[in-house]
Amino acid sequence: MCGIVGILGRGPVAGQLVESLKRLEYRGYDSAGVATVEGDHLERRRAEGKLKNLEARLHGDLLSGHTGIGHTRWATHGKPTERNAHPHMTDNVAVVHNGIIENFRELRAELEQNGANFASETDTEVVAHLVESYLKNGYSPQDAVKTLLPRLRGAFALAFLFKGHNDLMIGARRGSPLAIGYGDGEMYLGSDAIALAPFRYNHVS
Ligand code: GLU
Repeated sequence: MCGIVGILGRGPVAGQLVESLKRLEYRGYDSAGVATVEGDHLERRRAEGKLKNLEARLHGDLLSGHTGIGHTRWATHGKPTERNAHPHMTDNVAVVHNGIIENFRELRAELEQNGANFASETDTEVVAHLVESYLKNGYSPQDAVKTLLPRLRGAFALAFLFKGHNDLMIGARRGSPLAIGYGDGEMYLGSDAIALAPFRYNHVS
């Protein structure tokens, strides 16, 4: 079991994302990463092993985005390497995932046939490429995710960022938990309410 956090905030969120991931360490993990919307592009930092490795990476190469997602990974498909660590990204999408996409092999074969280049061994990466393909067909981010979900088999929680959308974060879940915190001008996502505990939110659903 891994951890997901997301913050749609008012200041740089990378530090808060890592602090929040620390509260999910009890769930176990082998690598970690964060991504933020940096102006008109998406940026990520990832590291194998403990969160202190990710912190060191962020220290040397700051992220300043106000909207971001973070992840601690418990590898199920692919080795616990930086290349397989989340977030997974395509041109316009970054995604973190908790769970298993059971039909990822079929989806990957279909995407590769249509020209997608995969960078990892994970089941998760098909999610980014599918959403990317819907965006390239003119779908909005919301419609792209709505179109994606019926194509996935398995239990999962997902959180997405989109290039060029500084104030948008989309979460989806089936079978796996994902809490939403409603703050004052801020929004939070987390694998459980413990992840959200440091934040000032009005209620969790
Ligand atoms: N199945 C995904 C992977 O292996 C996510 C694992 C997790 O829940 O951390 O990357």
